Amino acid sequence: MEENKKLVFIINPKAGQKKREEVLPDIINVFYEYGYDTEIHFTRFQGDATKMVGRHCRKCDLIVCMGGDGTLNEVIEGIIESGVGAPLGYIPAGSTNDFAASLQLSSVPVTAAKNIVNGTPKYIDIGRFNERYFVYTASTGIFTRTSYETPQNAKNILGHFAYILEGAKDLTNIKPLKLDIEYDGKRIKDEFIFAAICNSTSIGGVMTIDKQRVDFTDGLFEMLLIKFPRDLIELGTLINKLQTQTYGEGVELIPISNAVIKDNAANDWSLDGEKENGKRETIFEVFKHAVYFIY
Ligand SMILES: [Mg+2]
Repeated sequence: MEENKKLVFIINPKAGQKKREEVLPDIINVFYEYGYDTEIHFTRFQGDATKMVGRHCRKCDLIVCMGGDGTLNEVIEGIIESGVGAPLGYIPAGSTNDFAASLQLSSVPVTAAKNIVNGTPKYIDIGRFNERYFVYTASTGIFTRTSYETPQNAKNILGHFAYILEGAKDLTNIKPLKLDIEYDGKRIKDEFIFAAICNSTSIGGVMTIDKQRVDFTDGLFEMLLIKFPRDLIELGTLINKLQTQTYGEGVELIPISNAVIKDNAANDWSLDGEKENGKRETIFEVFKHAVYFIY
């Protein structure tokens, strides 16, 4: 008899409010119907998923992770660090699933599982930010703290709305980001209210980038820079530009493959929703086609 293929299923039990106990048997059944024996591992602490990949995924045929964007980020870090070659599928179950939304992954877990086993893997690009990897967004400035400081419970109950509420608190106390950015042989030095490098059509649920501009496999990430407004009139103009996705003069959207970002104040960043301590100099690089993703 032909042996079943091996699937390693990494689950973050703390992500999202969906009733895992109810959907889990159905998901495992889908995998079984498509010829996979499933080995389940629940993450216990931050960084656990990265270690699990190195420990359990070297000899498997398919890796699937279920959780939020933070869990996906950890699994991808494990895949790159351990040189694991199996394709990766993602069942989004967190409150912030910007990457899942960008790839139009189903939010119904069983449907997402079916799409994975029926899917065709594609190599996608991953960003490196100093020593850490990120899948879809690195950001600093307004709205950044909220992506990792909003308590998990509030994230689950309020979802994206929590981000916006927390962001509003930041408005009373905004300092400009003074950044000196060299990218692909060019340079921008200015004061910004927000800066992001992303490979996604949605940033923290508060900003959207046109699908036409985002390609997960082109070796480029989009750098979004929002200038610091001098007054309320300028703020209004910037908000309008963001809402209508009009770029240039105040709101820049530039495809880049690498950058060196200098920031004397060493402001903190958020990488896929997790805090990253700021540095005076940050090196960003795209790893083209770094992960074999199936969806
Ligand atoms: Mg791209």
